[in-house]
Amino acid sequence: MQPDQHVVVIGNGIAGITLAQRLRARSDCRITIVSSESALHISRPALMYVYMGHMRQQDITPYPDWYWKEKKIELVHDLVLSIDFDQKALKLQNGAFLAYDQLVLATGSSAVYYNWPGQHLKGVQALISLQDLELMQQQTIGIKQAVIVGGGLIGIEMAEMLQSKGVEVTMLVREKLYWSTNLPEQEAKLVTQHILNCGIDLCLQDEVTEIVGDEKGNVRAVKTKSGVELPCQFTGIATGVKPNIAFLKNTALEIDKGIMVNHFFETSIPDVFAIGDCAQFKDPAPGEPALEQLWYTGRQHGEALSAILTGTRNAYHRGPWFNSAKFLNIEYQTYGFVPRHWDDLIYSSLYWEHPVKTKAIRLFYERESGILKGINLLGIRFRHDLCHHWLQEKYTIHQVMEQLPAVNFDTEFFQRYEPELLKQYYQQYPDRQEPARQHTWWKLRHRLSLFSEKSDNN
Ligand SMILES: Cc1cc2nc3c(=O)[nH]c(=O)nc-3n(C[C@H](O)[C@H](O)[C@H](O)COP(=O)(O)OP(=O)(O)OC[C@H]3O[C@@H](n4cnc5c(N)ncnc54)[C@H](O)[C@@H]3O)c2cc1C
Repeated sequence: MQPDQHVVVIGNGIAGITLAQRLRARSDCRITIVSSESALHISRPALMYVYMGHMRQQDITPYPDWYWKEKKIELVHDLVLSIDFDQKALKLQNGAFLAYDQLVLATGSSAVYYNWPGQHLKGVQALISLQDLELMQQQTIGIKQAVIVGGGLIGIEMAEMLQSKGVEVTMLVREKLYWSTNLPEQEAKLVTQHILNCGIDLCLQDEVTEIVGDEKGNVRAVKTKSGVELPCQFTGIATGVKPNIAFLKNTALEIDKGIMVNHFFETSIPDVFAIGDCAQFKDPAPGEPALEQLWYTGRQHGEALSAILTGTRNAYHRGPWFNSAKFLNIEYQTYGFVPRHWDDLIYSSLYWEHPVKTKAIRLFYERESGILKGINLLGIRFRHDLCHHWLQEKYTIHQVMEQLPAVNFDTEFFQRYEPELLKQYYQQYPDRQEPARQHTWWKLRHRLSLFSEKSDNN
């Protein structure tokens, strides 16, 4: 890419800033990021810690002003109202126009509401942006009860945030168990019980019909389909997110739920690309979703597009899936593919759960070939590089079990729980012999050349 080219990025979330940073490392071109939420990039998954007082707002702003000046990346804190794709120019809210040679749309997502009566009352809101955090801080001062609508990852974060301020929280969840849309039943049961044990009430298999206000227009209760009325002074909406594409409707750009892209992040318009939460793959790889609204994915998109824009025209390939989150104080990590239910003729799994029910491991594999397909971890951490390697190199469950002692991050697990998973394995495969030698992480890391940087670039 020539230095006289101007790349403009809309959105300073993880996708937009990763693209700009990696592009700067590879090119002297002019780079401008335009974003409306905040002048500087903020770490969105850390918003909850600001609310709970674990961090200050400046702590979730990882790159200060001088960093961007030093990198010669121009920042424009403004809203893009529209794009003239023929003239290759953005119209900003401040009235100015900004011309581009290449445009990257990294506009992220916003909350989904389902037109419930009362959803615009004071005290009803989602948590996506810095402005939402500030609003939530104001709207929850001195309140006693809150209802969170939706049983997903943002919902449980909102519940934890409110509970940290002494608010009584009820989560309204449509399914039989918390997050059973994603977790297999055993994990979903464990997490559901943990939420209840932590003092958060769960109203399961029920859904909102109306949000009720008082005479001043403040929320007073949530009414549900089963006829329950849950009193509350705050209602958190956590029923999913949708790409931020409203300002792109009625333009020549091809959009569906998100901005349609191919595996080079190219949109239907030349020199216009889309990455992160707002990008929707026209032709997703088998087993991969068209839209993947996750932090790690946004970062991978940014990295991959920077290479494409600077001449390494490799189609984006996500590689083994990874995600992490937490359910109150239970950490959750998932690698590869672990569906919520499966055909026992095709797949099998080894599942171990600690009797205190805050730790669990699932190794999920193809029955016939034994090839590991995915790993779910609750309350236990495995070594990322090794899990990635197992999945990337299509290890069988038998090879994985041989290396199991090397994967744990948690010496407590190594000393006390690993034999239980092995015991299950030997019961399932009585003809298998215990390996003669135990692998240790450091030796294995050298033997397999597993180093974070190398696997990150894969
Ligand atoms: C509370 C919360 C917790 C989360 N926790 C996790 C987690 O633990 N793990 C995980 O993997 N994911 C998590 N996510 C999801 C993750 O944060 C997102 O997938 C990721 O931030 C998306 O990055 P992005 O760069 O695509 O977009 P965003 O981070 O959404 O950034 C897009 C930016 O573009 C700006 N913008 C949009 N339109 C315009 C316009 N017209 N003009 C100017 N600017 C515009 C927006 O204001 C926004 O600042 C969480 C999300 C939330 C809300």
